[in-house]
Amino acid sequence: MWSKLSNPLLGRRATSTPAVALLAIRRAYSAAAVDSTVHGVFQRAINATALRTDWTRAEISAIYNTPLIDLTHAAGTLHRRFHNPGAIQMCTLMNIKTGGCSEDCSYCAQSSRYQTGLKATKLSNVESVLAAARVARDNGSTRFCMGAAWRDMRGRKSSLRNIKAMVEGVHALGLESCVTLGMLDEAQAKELKDAGLTAYNHNVDTSREHYPKVITTRSYDERLQTISNVRDAGIKVCTGGILGLGEKPEDHVGLLYTVATMPSHPESFPVNTLVPIEGTPLFKATRIPFDAVLRTIATARLVMPTAIIRIAAGRVDMSEEKQVLCFLAGANAVFTGEKMLTTACSGWEEDLAMFNRWGLFPMKAHVEPVLRKAEESSFQVNTSLLADAPTGSFQETSATV
Ligand code: SF4
Repeated sequence: MWSKLSNPLLGRRATSTPAVALLAIRRAYSAAAVDSTVHGVFQRAINATALRTDWTRAEISAIYNTPLIDLTHAAGTLHRRFHNPGAIQMCTLMNIKTGGCSEDCSYCAQSSRYQTGLKATKLSNVESVLAAARVARDNGSTRFCMGAAWRDMRGRKSSLRNIKAMVEGVHALGLESCVTLGMLDEAQAKELKDAGLTAYNHNVDTSREHYPKVITTRSYDERLQTISNVRDAGIKVCTGGILGLGEKPEDHVGLLYTVATMPSHPESFPVNTLVPIEGTPLFKATRIPFDAVLRTIATARLVMPTAIIRIAAGRVDMSEEKQVLCFLAGANAVFTGEKMLTTACSGWEEDLAMFNRWGLFPMKAHVEPVLRKAEESSFQVNTSLLADAPTGSFQETSATV
């Protein structure tokens, strides 16, 4: 027989039979997997009023392994405290130098080690890049990213000069600028900063443990050193990962642990899913299930509340509904345009139509996240609904921060 209980979701005394049934099912489902610390870890994450860089791997794992329905709700709720939930940054990524790269990243079409049929090119000229940036801006993008397939910038003085001119030109168009050029030393980072560069992308790709199975020609620590050089130069750091590289769920936790415990959180965390390229070693890798992508995004939002979380490569294969689930869980940027490096990309018109359907809108350039008051962000989490709440604690109170 159903009993009368107060239902904090409804905010009134109610005969809450469906809610009680749902809670019972969720508890039964998760009882074996959730340990007694999850509730506390979750509480601390969703009540965040300041950034933490002292996360333990166990804490991130506890969050990542929370039932997905609770995880996405909490992430989406925290997202509203630091960001306007309707604002999605539109970025366009241009390949300014394609292919011929000496590195052996097992997923990449641009490595010269694999027969992918990709034709290597020289660095694009400044005018053609700025023309593309203008098209991106006129279509609604506010961030323009430029990628060159290089191991590093050693001995590339004239290329660096041209790239600085591109950065200055992009800046003059009122766009945020980002470049990804491989490894960078301190002096090169400073030169790019002086040219007005907004952000530098250098992904760590995966966990420290899984990384050697994907790339052997440069180490995880070399990646971290470049990120450190960028940060020290005062450039915003964009670093994220690729899901679907043959890793395990604990490697998603490891990836998040790496970025969330940097001296400061990256301004931008791209979440890519592998786009299998024929000719690369990972062409036949098992596709990553969507729930793992959503889990990674939601956990990233909870451990790095101010970061811009971008749905990057692989989005073109996601249904609109899946993309919206990602936005609800805290993602707030997409790559949009004609192409994303060597792979297909959702276009501006398609994205703007999706935005219109869901009440989303393009984020302006240079928006900084701010901590908003509870009443401004409608932040309400019924912590009694978390999976490890003690039995019978379905109380009237809800935590409002
Ligand atoms: S360094 Fe970049 S361009 Fe070169 S193989 Fe790796 S991912 Fe591809």
